Amino acid sequence: MPGFASNSKRSFFPWLKRELEAKGHSVQALDLPDARIPNIANQIEAVLKQVKFGPDTILVGHSWGAVVALKILEKLKTPIAGTILVAGLIEPAVKNRESWPLRLIFNWRFTWPKIKKNAGWVKILRDLKDPLIADNQGLRIQQELGGDLIEFEAEKAHVCGKVEPVVLEHCLEKIKIFTTRPDTLFGATYLVLAPEHQIIQNLIRQPSKKIKNLPAIKNYLTKTKKRTEIERTAEGRDKTGVKIEGLEAINPANGEIIPIYIADYVLVDYGFGAIMAVPAHDQRDWVFAKKFKLPIKLVIWDRQKLTDKSSQIVEDVLEQAYVGEGILVNSDNFSGLSNQKAKIAITKFVRGHLVTKYKLRDWVFSRQRYWGEPIPIIHCANCALNNPVGRGIVPVPEKDLPVKLPVVKSYAPTGTGESPLADITNWVRVKCPVCGAWAKRETNTMPQWAGSSWYYLRFIDPTNKKFLADPKKLQAWLGAGSPLRNLSQANIGGVSMYVGGVEHATRHLIYARFWHKFLFDLKIAPGSEPFSQLKNQGLVLGPDGRKMSKRWSNVINPDDVVRDYGADSLRLYEMFMGPFEQSKNWNSDNLMGVRRFLDRVWRLSFKVSKTDIKIASDLESLQQKTIQKVSQDIENFSFNTAVSTLMIMANNLELAETISRSLFKDFLKLLAPLAPHLTEELWSNLGEKRSIHLATWPIFEPSKIKINSFKIIIQINGKVRDSFQVEVGTSEAEIKKLALLRPIIIQWTKDQKISRMVYVPDKLLNLVLA
Ligand SMILES: [Zn+2]
Repeated sequence: MPGFASNSKRSFFPWLKRELEAKGHSVQALDLPDARIPNIANQIEAVLKQVKFGPDTILVGHSWGAVVALKILEKLKTPIAGTILVAGLIEPAVKNRESWPLRLIFNWRFTWPKIKKNAGWVKILRDLKDPLIADNQGLRIQQELGGDLIEFEAEKAHVCGKVEPVVLEHCLEKIKIFTTRPDTLFGATYLVLAPEHQIIQNLIRQPSKKIKNLPAIKNYLTKTKKRTEIERTAEGRDKTGVKIEGLEAINPANGEIIPIYIADYVLVDYGFGAIMAVPAHDQRDWVFAKKFKLPIKLVIWDRQKLTDKSSQIVEDVLEQAYVGEGILVNSDNFSGLSNQKAKIAITKFVRGHLVTKYKLRDWVFSRQRYWGEPIPIIHCANCALNNPVGRGIVPVPEKDLPVKLPVVKSYAPTGTGESPLADITNWVRVKCPVCGAWAKRETNTMPQWAGSSWYYLRFIDPTNKKFLADPKKLQAWLGAGSPLRNLSQANIGGVSMYVGGVEHATRHLIYARFWHKFLFDLKIAPGSEPFSQLKNQGLVLGPDGRKMSKRWSNVINPDDVVRDYGADSLRLYEMFMGPFEQSKNWNSDNLMGVRRFLDRVWRLSFKVSKTDIKIASDLESLQQKTIQKVSQDIENFSFNTAVSTLMIMANNLELAETISRSLFKDFLKLLAPLAPHLTEELWSNLGEKRSIHLATWPIFEPSKIKINSFKIIIQINGKVRDSFQVEVGTSEAEIKKLALLRPIIIQWTKDQKISRMVYVPDKLLNLVLA
């Protein structure tokens, strides 16, 4: 219904009608009689004559049309499905329009209980910059009628654009979906709603005749109420659900009509309580689809195994959902894309947007162990009597914090399931800080993840008795933009480089971030993020390539390695094993190799000159390259190549008869982070008084690097086609041979005879084709 002085040909009405009809709805765009000087009774009569209202009707009114809509709802005998009030009003609250006739000719009274009874679901759409309707009207309608108030910026003021997508969106019952796999959207063959989803709730409250199996739905809802979240989502549990007969959804990617199920493996508070089910690529959907005999459509498949018959793959090959990477099939224009690229492309195509979501796992916070931080709570029976709501749970006053563990002889469990602390009466018994009666301390302790959620803040100032840590120190070490921080992420603040196992991703890192943000809100943590850069180290596997475990008897005990080879050997070997983030197998032969390298470094120290002597230029060049490479490698966590670079340097030092003192000192400094003990010893043997670990890092001097390669340009018939680096001292014949082996040159000279090669020393090679 159009607004004051308007009609069905104006504003967004023609467009909205077309859009809704294209989706299969039948739409009546109404004109109201005497649009400029409305008589509400006549208008109501005209509408009731033209329209057959039923339980599936949705009434949309714009501006004055919204007032008419409410008046029509007063008159109806039975409820409709829903009401959408666009830029509506219920008081003559029109801005800057003192002369507006409706202020006077309409009485502005509504029978709200009747309207409420007939309105169905209600959506109130308000233009945030509406120049006509008073700003409070959206809220006023909501106060009277309930429903959702949707505030947005209209395409044109007072929601008068030719196209107003928000209006369309709310006319259609759109089901919002959260998915981590938009790349699989073309494979969605059904939709699942959580039993608590609003649509289901509306359906129960106000049944539509369209729904054919309401008793079955109600029955299912009753059953799921009894199940816990853990039961509902447990892997391997039999999947249950019920189809909503008479209601269907449209897959926005391909326009396919798909059935809607209610199933309790979908939780209402995760995402939006609704999922697009892609049985070919999600195992839970797979199990559900098999049980309910729903279609399974493959849309991603391994590039290597691709054939054109994807339905055959489902029937012949797939025994469970395919959750791997691959390229898209059966996905219209997106077929052929890698699934990673498709994620973004398809999200854009269906006008979705990318979000980051976190799922914090439940965390049992109390442990029945001695070792853990005591929970600072006192249980007082007297307070419980006086105030049953508080149940006598009294926090330990801040001045008495921290509660320390008692010194005891035995930490052993009590055997009763209670914490070992429960037996220590003189610790447990305490005066209630509120009423002074005898009370009991909480005897459960915190789990180890409690302390690990903030220890990095305490490490900054571990002996501080007043604060968690001195705020100035926290700011200096962890504050954003602090001059002590020189990593590129310095702006974020937090620990510059955080290293841990990948298993931390779902627990420790999220808990720590949660605590950190809490402490930031309390103005204790100096920035909003705990860590600015994260690296996950790879796992060290057993010599057999399996995870170390007593079960496989492949465990290498570091204590044994330290005893037999020394701590530096162990450390250096672990650095040398391979790329930092990759898992790698333990190899005792390589460990021995590293130990031998350290022995050689020890022997090198006997050849060090008493004073600084001139360093041969080749060696000096290598020294500079070593400084450059090791410095970069350490910054980049490329420890294995740093070690091999130092090994090359050591090989060269072994060839020298005497080693310059300054050269050897630089070498030790570079090795010091990797073999701290040996280098400290050798450093001290050189007569140095301070620790090597306090010495300044060697500075790379590029000018001292001898240039030992140069560029040769290759021309063909005088035109530049390619170039490559050659080592100093490479012969002309060798250069010609190398040039002819280059793929680009092979391309250019294919099937043609080279009649001549002209070589300009150190610069250019010209090939003349016959
Ligand atoms: Zn008390």
